[in-house]
Amino acid sequence: HESVEESFDVIVLGGGPAGSTVSTFTAMAGHRVLLLEREHLPRHQIGESLLPATIHGICPMLGVKEEVERAGFPRKNGGTFRWGKSPTPWTFRFTKQPNDPYGYAYQVERAKFDDMLLRNAQRKGVDVREGHEVLGLLYEGERVVGVRFRDPGGKERTARARYVADTSGHKSHVAPTVGQRVFSKFFQNVALYGYYEHGKRLPAPNSGNILCAAFPSGWFWYIPLSDTLTSVGAVVAKESAGRIRESMDDAMRSYIDECPIIREYLAGATRVTEGIYGEYRIRKDYSYCNTRFWAPGVVLVGDAACFIDPVFSSGVHLATYSAMLAARSINTCLRGDELMDEEECFEEYEMRYRREFGKFYQFLTAFYDMNQDESSYFWSARKILNTEERDNDAFIRLVAGISEADEPLFEGGAERFFADRQGFGAYFGDVLAREASDGKEEEGLRPAGAPRPDPAKFDADKFMQGFTSEIAQLQVLALMRERRPAERPLVPHGLVASGDGLHWAVAPA
Ligand code: FAD
Repeated sequence: HESVEESFDVIVLGGGPAGSTVSTFTAMAGHRVLLLEREHLPRHQIGESLLPATIHGICPMLGVKEEVERAGFPRKNGGTFRWGKSPTPWTFRFTKQPNDPYGYAYQVERAKFDDMLLRNAQRKGVDVREGHEVLGLLYEGERVVGVRFRDPGGKERTARARYVADTSGHKSHVAPTVGQRVFSKFFQNVALYGYYEHGKRLPAPNSGNILCAAFPSGWFWYIPLSDTLTSVGAVVAKESAGRIRESMDDAMRSYIDECPIIREYLAGATRVTEGIYGEYRIRKDYSYCNTRFWAPGVVLVGDAACFIDPVFSSGVHLATYSAMLAARSINTCLRGDELMDEEECFEEYEMRYRREFGKFYQFLTAFYDMNQDESSYFWSARKILNTEERDNDAFIRLVAGISEADEPLFEGGAERFFADRQGFGAYFGDVLAREASDGKEEEGLRPAGAPRPDPAKFDADKFMQGFTSEIAQLQVLALMRERRPAERPLVPHGLVASGDGLHWAVAPA
């Protein structure tokens, strides 16, 4: 190729939450960072319901917490679910303490939220170029050394960098060059979604919650984006994709009809038909994990590496958390450290991101398993006992062996993985019932007589304790920075975050 025109320390491909986060954290460490985004922000994106880890962990570290707070996004105290056997909705709150300053998140219009993060990256010194489409990577031998891109005038250009972070999302063209994308068979769903004005709200204090409602063909999300605007999406089996394409309007109306609570909530509402919210949209094939998350000179971050399912609102958390980890690896390698080499830094990244992904994966399979409606094709196909994922060794290997260090290492294939977790759905239903009712008995979440997981094979209690550990760590880091207690490595001989959270450090002996 022609001689490379420009040179940077880091090039970031895509200006979603992952791209803005990794670029800001590398710029904050003093590096020269170029971010290329194909679109012009603000642009529409799905993924509107956030978790506290993003609001109280990543946002303050990025320096956007106050701005996000001032934006007037609806406050989300948790999730309300019409799920499991219970016909009445129950609520899971992020915290039980009424005055917990960190026990909430927001529902965001992603057009606004992503724009805030990108402008903040710009203010922190990132060279942000919108309307620039990345076309491919530049190599020297096996090593990625830069990118080819098209500028808004249509001219092809090149830029070099010591590290390239691919944050171009679910359609990443870079991911297949780093590894192979393996799809989940369990979560082979399709999402059809649109926007409504004047839908009903849950009663206070839950009016800002996400409402997830199971119905025979799948489940709905119902996310309040303002006092009057609501994002409504139906997640159904992939076999329905053809029918949805024939008429999205007919399909949506019939799903709403099937789901009493959503029908009631939308009874007085009108669908938005203009502007960025004016069309139905579809997403499918969104549950996958790459076999590798990095190769020399390039790292996959956020959706470019993996995504599972929207029900727990984990996408933006995983995207921004992985971006912070990737920034640590890049910053450490750029600084040059005698104690840690590139492989160690990026293996730490990949291990941590996979573990967090694996936790959500296990939690999600249990959550789907809990909703045992035997007469429904959708739900009976998603029972741990008969799921197709039992034959999906390749996928399970990517998430299972490295999920919880304290669980027995994965062996024996996917069938064994699911056999060991039989009863996790029912167990989980119990835990949620206790959480939801604050000690008071709640009926109906756990099918009577359901099996329990065998603690010798899968320790559900331990799993649940470990589930939020990284999220808690992230919030402690944001709050206390250098003053926080010493971190322990996640695995023996693993690395820990440096005092400023922007690099890796060797754990004290
Ligand atoms: P993206 O947000 O996809 O950003 C990628 C960016 O890269 C885009 O701006 C794109 O324009 C740009 N780009 C792509 N290709 C190129 C190129 N060649 N050159 C330059 N730029 C490029 N998550 C939640 O947290 N909460 C939810 O409620 C939720 N609901 C969801 C519902 C559905 C149906 C789905 C499928 C996902 C949902 N998610 C949710 C997940 C969430 O959408 C993603 O996890 C999140 O947007 C990932 O962020 P990202 O930065 O990795 O990628």
